[in-house]
Amino acid sequence: MLNEFAYCPRLFYLEWVHGEWEDSADTEEGRQRHRRVDEPRGEVPAAGEGAESAEGAGAIHARSVHLSAPEVGIVARIDLLEGEGREVTPVDYKRGAVPDVPGGAYEPERVQLAAQALVLRENGFAVEEGILWYAASNRRVVVPIDETLVARTIELRDEARRLAATALPPPPLVDSPKCPRCSLVGICLPDEVHALGAAAPSAESAGDDRPPGASGDGEEQPPAIRSLFPARDDRLPLYVQEQGARVGKSGELLAVQRREAPDVKVRIRDTSQVALFGNVQVTTQAIHELCRAEIPVCYFSHGAWFYGMTTGLPHKNVDLRRRQYAVASDADASLDLARRIVRVKIQNCRTILRRNLEEPPPDLLAALEDLAHETNRVMTSDALLGVEGLAARLYFGAFPHLVHPPNDADSLAFDFQSRNRRPPRDPVNALLSLAYALLAKEATVTLAAVGLDPYLGFYHRPRYGRPSLALDLMEEFRPILCDSAVLSAINTGEISRTDFVVRAGACSLTPPGRKNFIQCYERRMDGLVQHPVFGYRISYRRVLEVQARLLGRWLLGEIPDYPDFRTR
Ligand code: SF4
Repeated sequence: MLNEFAYCPRLFYLEWVHGEWEDSADTEEGRQRHRRVDEPRGEVPAAGEGAESAEGAGAIHARSVHLSAPEVGIVARIDLLEGEGREVTPVDYKRGAVPDVPGGAYEPERVQLAAQALVLRENGFAVEEGILWYAASNRRVVVPIDETLVARTIELRDEARRLAATALPPPPLVDSPKCPRCSLVGICLPDEVHALGAAAPSAESAGDDRPPGASGDGEEQPPAIRSLFPARDDRLPLYVQEQGARVGKSGELLAVQRREAPDVKVRIRDTSQVALFGNVQVTTQAIHELCRAEIPVCYFSHGAWFYGMTTGLPHKNVDLRRRQYAVASDADASLDLARRIVRVKIQNCRTILRRNLEEPPPDLLAALEDLAHETNRVMTSDALLGVEGLAARLYFGAFPHLVHPPNDADSLAFDFQSRNRRPPRDPVNALLSLAYALLAKEATVTLAAVGLDPYLGFYHRPRYGRPSLALDLMEEFRPILCDSAVLSAINTGEISRTDFVVRAGACSLTPPGRKNFIQCYERRMDGLVQHPVFGYRISYRRVLEVQARLLGRWLLGEIPDYPDFRTR
């Protein structure tokens, strides 16, 4: 962990204090290359035996050696230990090429070797140098463990300890070339956090990376926001809705056995989540593997009511949840956030009408804009609910004018009078309910993954079994994701009247209809959108993740406000 601290103090804090971890192509490749040295092999004399074994002059060649040094206060895992008797050399494996810097090694790598040397010395060994082995160059670089390097290592150890005891991570580096290579860049959001007005970085956190003239005194324009993480997740959700199906594990694959159709197999590493509808079984082996791989399993009723989720252990960032609970107990702070959520939702509803109505009535748009502003003036959450209800009535009052099925025969089937649910009584409401359930699932999964409690909201108050924070997070996205996907499904003819059944006044989708709509919804989630605040293009699913992470940053006090996601 000292090498992470030397690389970036915030990286150290996020990984070791907040328990954040994210695999990148670099870390995955590093793990593959490390596989051989990660298997413990070979004998190392126990503490205090180093000097004695010198007399025996036994050769040491041991892999993945774990040693601790209580006095110096460091624990080390050494990839390879070579030597003879009491004179040993730690070897650290690096997947990359020898860097073009003096001595062929960056400071974090030199510090890591020095920390290993200190641990070995406390265990009775003599260490004069360490070795970095660069896989891509197939070359060894010798690093002398001199007094200067040892002093620097001790200094960083003490700084890391002090930082770990603080309540907040240090600010991100400014416009640093280190960030694009950092595995936590999608969690840290360095440029986004600065753009949203994070506290000016200390000289320490800015390190050597600060551009000339960037004094952090607030005078300079922040650097442009870079697009530092993939625009979309390459992994896909697996939906299983065939009744009686069974999801099992077969090696590296998830195998879905269906009663009346061939089996389907998907690679676990290509799967982002598993969504099961109704009577679908999942084996214990599959659950174990999915928990280990941090892939959530989401459960829906046969009628698509989202009612639960299985995940691995909860996120380790307890401080974040404590802040969430504290802010949720603060009526003023909760109302402030709730006002923003409802305001942006109303503005996004207005955008949907403006974009999709041939001649949007100016009165209607003005009324929605007034209600959006009214949210800033309400003093209670009940009053806010009232404003939201009024806006919803106006919006859904105009919604029928957005529905234009290509087939005349479908026009009557998609006649929409008003929003109704539990159960939905007509096809448009059935589609809206399914879309909202899918988005609630998405928001729940995302919030749990970033370390927040999906059940404790700020606008939606806690109610047993209700993912209130997920409902808060999805509020501003309902019109632009769900309503938009419903309109697209109907207006392009991907969904027709034959995709519905009505029983006892309740309208629901047939299995093929639901499958079609899930494809429409997933296309929408996967579609790229220009972020209105940061300017880069990312998928809506990523947008949801960025919003959830920024909510966490706001709760922790790193940014002054939770940003709106308002489309134009
Ligand atoms: S993204 Fe940059 S600022 Fe953030 S932890 Fe990584 S190196 Fe540090």
